[in-house]
Amino acid sequence: MATELPKDLLASLQTVAGFDEKAFKAVHQSREQVVSIRLNPAKLKDVSQLLSVEKTLDAPIPWSSDGYYLRQRPLFTIDPLFHAGAYYVQEASSMFLEEALRQTCKLTDKLNVLDLCAAPGGKSTLIQSLLSSKSLLVSNEVIKARANILTENITKWGAANVVVTNNDPKDFARLPSFFDCIVIDAPCSGSGLFRKQPDAIDEWSINNVELCSQRQQRIIADVWNALKPGGVLIYSTCSYSAKEDEEITDWIKDSYDADNFQLHLKEDWNIVETVSAKHQCLGYRFYPDKIKGEGFFIAAFQKNNQPSYNCAEGKAIKNMHLSKAEEKEVGNFLKEAANFSFIKWQNDALAIPAAIYEDALLLQQHLYIKKLGINMGTFIRDELIPSHELVLSNAYAGNLPVQEVAEETALDYLRRLDIKIESQKKGWAVICFCGIALGLVKFLPNRVNNYYPKDWRILNK
Ligand code: SAM
Repeated sequence: MATELPKDLLASLQTVAGFDEKAFKAVHQSREQVVSIRLNPAKLKDVSQLLSVEKTLDAPIPWSSDGYYLRQRPLFTIDPLFHAGAYYVQEASSMFLEEALRQTCKLTDKLNVLDLCAAPGGKSTLIQSLLSSKSLLVSNEVIKARANILTENITKWGAANVVVTNNDPKDFARLPSFFDCIVIDAPCSGSGLFRKQPDAIDEWSINNVELCSQRQQRIIADVWNALKPGGVLIYSTCSYSAKEDEEITDWIKDSYDADNFQLHLKEDWNIVETVSAKHQCLGYRFYPDKIKGEGFFIAAFQKNNQPSYNCAEGKAIKNMHLSKAEEKEVGNFLKEAANFSFIKWQNDALAIPAAIYEDALLLQQHLYIKKLGINMGTFIRDELIPSHELVLSNAYAGNLPVQEVAEETALDYLRRLDIKIESQKKGWAVICFCGIALGLVKFLPNRVNNYYPKDWRILNK
């Protein structure tokens, strides 16, 4: 495993704003690990609920409302609250997306937002927490296996207004002028993570930087028409290479009619504002020798007014609807059933926030959908068999019996082992740890059936 930073990378950074070779090398040699998490405000009333993580909680992250540094790295895999979606482990610099969104979008409005390169879900969970409940977030990932992890993390986050899709960026051309904001956290050469993952150094090359840069241009070109006139494009990478950062901002200005945003920074954040060579576009660089976090670049643009287009009719999808009795039954499980519309998808009942219903149906015609609203469960003879997703959702009414468990039982549950609980309960119940739902069990006369999803189970002992 190489630990020396690539010479070609260092040479390419000599003229880049904010680059201080000595400090940059020293911080990489230090191998200091910065650990940070972002809390899920919809699931946590108080940080004191966090138990094991709370003891290691350090200062808040300056540019984030819910982000905190940790003094040390806990074993997240054996913290039940990590699996409950109570927080997300996220690199601190990338939480600056919050500031970029706050300063460029009116977040209280009803917005359609696309997170194009979304797996495993760090930016999507952040965006979701900032949007109003009437807004729609489309969280997309092109790689199938990664789309599964994304779906799992979004499900655990518990929001109803997220649609997870598994599409190639070019598929979004079917949705002209649909999005108010598109976030592209682009695949990149990854030099910004060298301190955290030194083995990535071996894979770095100038050639790969060039390939990444071409792919980044292709991705932006593929989705540009899906952005509304007046809409906002936020572009980010975890690369230090100007070819993937400032040169992409110049390419955007060369290719499209768009204005670049200046973001307001506090001086003590030590984020470096850079100016691109050709069009003087402003971008924001995060260097680990200047801030407490890893390498990151972000820039924002507003698409200028141009004629907008309507979406073409897609493949007609005939959704089945629930019967009145089924709607009533499903509605019993929701805090505010009147705010939802319902469809049947295969054998399952889906609850979709009414505010995003029409747009969600349009997406259904054009994209490959992994998750739409809340999958409430399956009907078997007029009775709803509740789904795991329902009880993790923030919209769930909390009407099934609750079984609070201690940490060891919680971990056995998450490992999908047999669990023993002394209780008079019968039928479906929700297993909770520190008051936060982990999932479903069924109480039978002599045992408890564990319904934790097989694919999500913790594998370590
Ligand atoms: N935004 C994510 C987060 O915060 O958790 C991280 C995204 S990662 C930097 C880039 C993502 O782009 C990866 O999930 C990768 O699978 C995806 N990707 C790779 N090639 C792509 C392509 N050609 N078009 C779109 N996305 C691509």
